[in-house]
Amino acid sequence: MGHKYEPLVLAQLLPQLAEEIARRLAEDAEGAEFAPQVPTLRILSRCGCKEPGCASFTTGARRSGKHPTPVRTIALFSTRRGMSDIIIDVVEGKIVNVEILDRTDIAAVLDEAFAKLRAGTA
Ligand SMILES: [Zn+2]
Repeated sequence: MGHKYEPLVLAQLLPQLAEEIARRLAEDAEGAEFAPQVPTLRILSRCGCKEPGCASFTTGARRSGKHPTPVRTIALFSTRRGMSDIIIDVVEGKIVNVEILDRTDIAAVLDEAFAKLRAGTA
């Protein structure tokens, strides 16, 4: 058998970010119903855009094909200095993508975690 794939749990890898996302969702009229999902979100893949500071990641599958499922986008704008806007995509009631730009600190944690996963040492 090959390497066992252990998905990365957002709340374990980036607990402060998970808290931040959950708090901002809870405070958002549209996002509040999705806040309870945050503790169980798994980081499935990184955004492939290679933009410096892009810390976006997927947490679920977006169905493609003939009938692509509609995506609901929830923008959580930052009201604090030093905090980025966070854009959440929801498909069929599940958070499938988290977009975070200009956060090299988070991007570095994700880079390291995925490098370990690829090396099989996570
Ligand atoms: Zn990106």
